[in-house]
Amino acid sequence: MSADVLQTPLQYLKGVGPRKAADLKKAGLLTVEDLLFRFPMRYEDRSRMQPIIGLRPGQMAAVGGEVLSAHLQPTRRAGFRLFTALVQDASGQIQVVWPNQAFLKDVICPHQHVVLFGKVELWGSRGLQITDPEFEIVDAMPEPGEPQAGPHEQLHTGRIVPVYERTGSVTTNMQRRFVWQALHQLPETLFDPVPQDVLTAHRWPSRRAALFQAHFPSSDVPVDMLNRFETPAQRRLIFEDFFVFQAGLALRRHENAQVKKARVCYVSDEIRAAARAVLPFKLTQGQRDALADIVADLQRSWPMQRLLQGDVGAGKTIVAVLAAVVAMENGYQVAFMAPTEILAEQHYRTVMKWLDGTKYRVRLLTGRVTAAQRRDLLPAIERGEIHFVIGTHALVQEHVTFRALALVIIDEQHRFGVIQRGTLAAKGGNPDVLVMTATPIPRTLALTECGDMDVSVIRGLPPGRKPIRTIVKPDSRRDEVYALIRQEVARGRQAFVVYPLVEESEKVDLRAATAMAEELTRVFPEFTVALLHGRMKGDEKDRVMRAFAGGQLHVLVATSVVEVGVDVPNATVMVVEHAERFGLSQLHQLRGRIGRGDHESTCVLVYQAPWSDDARERLKAMASTSDGFVIAEKDLQIRGPGDFFGTRQSGLPQLRAGDLTRDADLLEEAFNEARARIEHGRLAPAQIEYVRAVWQRQFGLITVG
Ligand code: ADP
Ligand code: MG
Repeated sequence: MSADVLQTPLQYLKGVGPRKAADLKKAGLLTVEDLLFRFPMRYEDRSRMQPIIGLRPGQMAAVGGEVLSAHLQPTRRAGFRLFTALVQDASGQIQVVWPNQAFLKDVICPHQHVVLFGKVELWGSRGLQITDPEFEIVDAMPEPGEPQAGPHEQLHTGRIVPVYERTGSVTTNMQRRFVWQALHQLPETLFDPVPQDVLTAHRWPSRRAALFQAHFPSSDVPVDMLNRFETPAQRRLIFEDFFVFQAGLALRRHENAQVKKARVCYVSDEIRAAARAVLPFKLTQGQRDALADIVADLQRSWPMQRLLQGDVGAGKTIVAVLAAVVAMENGYQVAFMAPTEILAEQHYRTVMKWLDGTKYRVRLLTGRVTAAQRRDLLPAIERGEIHFVIGTHALVQEHVTFRALALVIIDEQHRFGVIQRGTLAAKGGNPDVLVMTATPIPRTLALTECGDMDVSVIRGLPPGRKPIRTIVKPDSRRDEVYALIRQEVARGRQAFVVYPLVEESEKVDLRAATAMAEELTRVFPEFTVALLHGRMKGDEKDRVMRAFAGGQLHVLVATSVVEVGVDVPNATVMVVEHAERFGLSQLHQLRGRIGRGDHESTCVLVYQAPWSDDARERLKAMASTSDGFVIAEKDLQIRGPGDFFGTRQSGLPQLRAGDLTRDADLLEEAFNEARARIEHGRLAPAQIEYVRAVWQRQFGLITVG
């Protein structure tokens, strides 16, 4: 079968020994297909021979001519020898020099015809030379200005040449040879996973032709178009990459829709009235739309898998709680999970406030619940007497049994992807799952990382929020920062001072935060300063947080534990120390802790010089916008998809040819095409089979179907 050639392990290519195969493997290249889908990092036009007489120093040039003479010359440096040749074309002659490549004396000889590509340099008073060029010995010599053609096809010169990133011992030239060899082993027709009508609509080439063109373009393709990855051949392969992946996600989603959940909700006027009765304020349009999506899912026969995205403070909690009311009105139970105990406790207080005086029984289940309380609580949950359980992610890992769990709400915040969906299914009955994230995820990333889920987005913030002023200050101007804190606290406001907490250096950072708390106590003898960090016991943390939220503390020095959660409307200052160490999305989260009340708020990003270019760009972006979605796009650009979530999602693929920023339009199209075709049964069985095989191979652990 034709696909077999693509699946051939690379060591079967001529010239790929065990060592090179191992190096290629390290870069993720195992098969011929992997190699062919690894695009060049750039292309160089070496196709047009330039007349020697017209060469200028400093330029990269391709020339072709006859070797008049060739010598190995010693130099004054011991053991260092130059191989030089004199090459002549119809217009003139030029000296060519290869430093320290003595073996060339057995390769390049007089009367041969060669094609060279390299840098033209001034050679003392003796004129021009080409230094250390790439070369090929050819049969026939093209005229200057003519593209190279003929039976002896060239790889490294005389054409538009692909330049690959070096992988270990495999140089760009070797890779070029391997790719060339692999391409020539391809059968005349290759199975094409891209539907024919898509190819026709775009006038895209066949798979085989596209692979050839993407690596060894014909000389009439503009090089700058190649370098922007905009040629039809390149776009087609990028699309293919996206399409196969998206088809796999669509298949998963489609198969999920065949799963029957045990507890389907219905909605009546009575239930709507019950939800309205709970409502503490008027929902924004975005909140209403998201709620409508979710309530529609609750009424379907298959389990919901929905991601609710919204900026910090967009008001996701109330949307989730209203969905919970619908489930509870149906006689079902709801689990609400937060990433930290502090947050679970805050959610608990919020939910209790909203559901006060209703018939729903809400309980908190965290590590702080005593064994005695647990002995009562767990059986009550099992009997269905508790309707709404709020806790940390331990809720699913622990031995909590529900009688009628219908809805699981996961407030993931930025710690995206920690929950294994399998564990949830194990809770029985295939409950509906709503994941909330406060890190807006760029659309392109949401499509790849969460493409099998449905996504609702709440844009904008509830009315009445005051914009936050953001300023960036070097550590050396700390006095101004203190002056700001003093002024705000004197007005009755409160301030956060946040320290980064990096796991590897947890102790060091903790010391730094502790020292800062001590310094601030000295600087502001008239204020109350307290320290909050992740190592503190739950009740100690809670005591500090409560005191701050209650206004008894003026300045809270915290390691980044505050980034998830805590609503303190009276806090108007957020000072981020070592802001250069935080990621953009994290900074945005932190900033979202202020500006929640009626007062003007200021976020101060304090950096320690020297800062990297990336850090400068991040802090500039923070100062220039407060839109979480814009910031997320920027973060993706700076960090790349792999690092966006801090740690790479396990099991999800590296994109091969595509780039989420550059090729966003193709991704969007691949997503739409794949979903529509799978849902309407318009993907041929052979193509579905192909998609399954690729998923099996590439993403092994994740099964499709
Ligand atoms: P997040 O989306 O970050 O979880 P929250 O749900 O905590 O945001 O909401 C942020 C704040 O805005 C809360 O104090 C909440 O009560 C309030 N809020 C949410 N929706 C509205 C609304 N429609 N009108 C007024 N205030 C709202
Ligand atoms: Mg929230």
